[in-house]
Amino acid sequence: MTARFSDGTEATGDVLIGCDGVGSFTRRWIDPDAPEPRFTGLLSIGGFARLPGLAPTPGVQRMIFGARGFFGYLVRTDGTVYWFANPNWSGVDPDRVRRMPTDQWLTELRELHAQDPFPVPQILAAADEVGAYPIYDLPHVPHWHRGRVVAVGDAVHATSPNAGQGASLALEDAVTLARCLRDRPSHPPAFDEYVRLRRPRAEEVVKYSRALGRRKAPGGSRLAVGLRDLMLPLVLRNATRDARNNHLYNHPVNWDGALSGA
Ligand SMILES: Cc1cc2nc3c(=O)[nH]c(=O)nc-3n(C[C@H](O)[C@H](O)[C@H](O)COP(=O)(O)OP(=O)(O)OC[C@H]3O[C@@H](n4cnc5c(N)ncnc54)[C@H](O)[C@@H]3O)c2cc1C
Repeated sequence: MTARFSDGTEATGDVLIGCDGVGSFTRRWIDPDAPEPRFTGLLSIGGFARLPGLAPTPGVQRMIFGARGFFGYLVRTDGTVYWFANPNWSGVDPDRVRRMPTDQWLTELRELHAQDPFPVPQILAAADEVGAYPIYDLPHVPHWHRGRVVAVGDAVHATSPNAGQGASLALEDAVTLARCLRDRPSHPPAFDEYVRLRRPRAEEVVKYSRALGRRKAPGGSRLAVGLRDLMLPLVLRNATRDARNNHLYNHPVNWDGALSGA
């Protein structure tokens, strides 16, 4: 396989492993009818701010399920605040995100979080730059390989960031694919085994993460927000204790063990 890049360079190998993210060219090469990424309705907007007097939060990121949107922040030891928000843009054209100027974002966010507790409005008042991205996911991609080409990570199972598992999934794919190529005699059975081992977990995480996102964006109704606030302490406590969810956050990849049948 030879891959040719737009900067004029090329690379040749026995197989081509596409790790080119949610907008993957490789995914479309494998299957021209592959599904397009699906807008989750949430945006991820973030930036830095300086808010004198706000104590550093070493090792801790604070998250606020606000009345009208989700907000997270941490304060570095030098006093710099890193913050992000996940406004709900369901039903709005995600392409508009890229066209919105910073001052308009800040006006929207300040209004959205005006009723939230200290220091959310204060951080937004001090913020002066933002980066904004629509969040997409890919719940099911039918084909992960064709011929000598295979894809890993977001290219075949992009997940919204709510569960914080996207980077783990990509790394687990890479190790599992290497294991399959090591223990199977050639690439066709190796690719099949890789998909068999990875697809169920990847698709479960994408689904779970999207469900978490719905709690971040209660849709504005007072009843929905009230119910969420009643349930949230229970849900979050159980998320770390509940055996059904633990496997999502504690997934072992057994590199040293040979694959069965090897
Ligand atoms: C706002 C946001 C917050 C997130 N937060 C978290 C989090 O807290 N925890 C977590 O685990 N995950 C998080 N994620 C998800 C995580 O970032 C991804 O799941 C992970 O980066 C996927 O890794 P990847 O290697 O598959 O793809 P990527 O990290 O997207 O890497 C793909 C690379 O391929 C390059 N590329 C694409 N096309 C080409 C081409 N044609 N030629 C050459 N290069 C190309 C891209 O430039 C990019 O560098 C977040 C995602 C977003 C959008």
